[in-house]
Amino acid sequence: MIKALAKGLALTFKTLFRPRITLRYPEERKVMYERWRGLPYLVQAEDGREACVGCGICERICPAQAIKVTMGKREDNTRYPETFHLDIGRCIFCGFCAESCPQDAIRMGHAYELATNDKDKLVISKEYLLKRPE
Ligand code: SF4
Ligand code: SF4
Repeated sequence: MIKALAKGLALTFKTLFRPRITLRYPEERKVMYERWRGLPYLVQAEDGREACVGCGICERICPAQAIKVTMGKREDNTRYPETFHLDIGRCIFCGFCAESCPQDAIRMGHAYELATNDKDKLVISKEYLLKRPE
């Protein structure tokens, strides 16, 4: 019994002076690795428009059917996503959409605090995705 107690205390003291690996969340947040996959986001081109052309490849490749996109045409005949919705309740953060996009218009971001009690908020719009949520 005393031997077991001493062993336990020795382990406690050994651990006491090790560097802390936990964080005081939410005040402290972990910096994610560059290639870590969080919420996808849409890229803005240099002219401020969407880099996405609304082709729908990401919608077709998404294994979770989380993306819905409709293509529109601007007055100058260029294509853009008239609507682009991402259902984060379905997304499995696989990154297939980002890998398959011919325009490099959708990328995997680092946002991970996505919980909500309101299921309507799980479907997010193009405008939100273009802001690159963190
Ligand atoms: S994000 Fe890429 S793949 Fe998806 S609709 Fe836009 S251009 Fe096509
Ligand atoms: S990360 Fe995967 S599951 Fe999420 S939208 Fe892209 S393809 Fe679909």
